[in-house]
Amino acid sequence: MNKCTLCHKGQYLNEQVVFSSRRGDQLVVVEGVPALVCDVCGDRVITEETAREIERVATGSPVDSVPLYRFPQLDFVHS
Ligand SMILES: [Zn+2]
Repeated sequence: MNKCTLCHKGQYLNEQVVFSSRRGDQLVVVEGVPALVCDVCGDRVITEETAREIERVATGSPVDSVPLYRFPQLDFVHS
């Protein structure tokens, strides 16, 4: 198994993730995307092939309309 290149502690495990990206002003969400996910820091790695497949899938018809929520802008002071 590959060691995580980000935290150098975890290992990448095969998982299915929800992948979201922005295409212009549209949000594209693809679920069931095979990815390697670090079991410590959660870094996600997808192969070039998978990225291409996401591109291909995202040009088709969506299987569902996703409710999109925006987290409110709170006046937290990060110290
Ligand atoms: Zn990691």
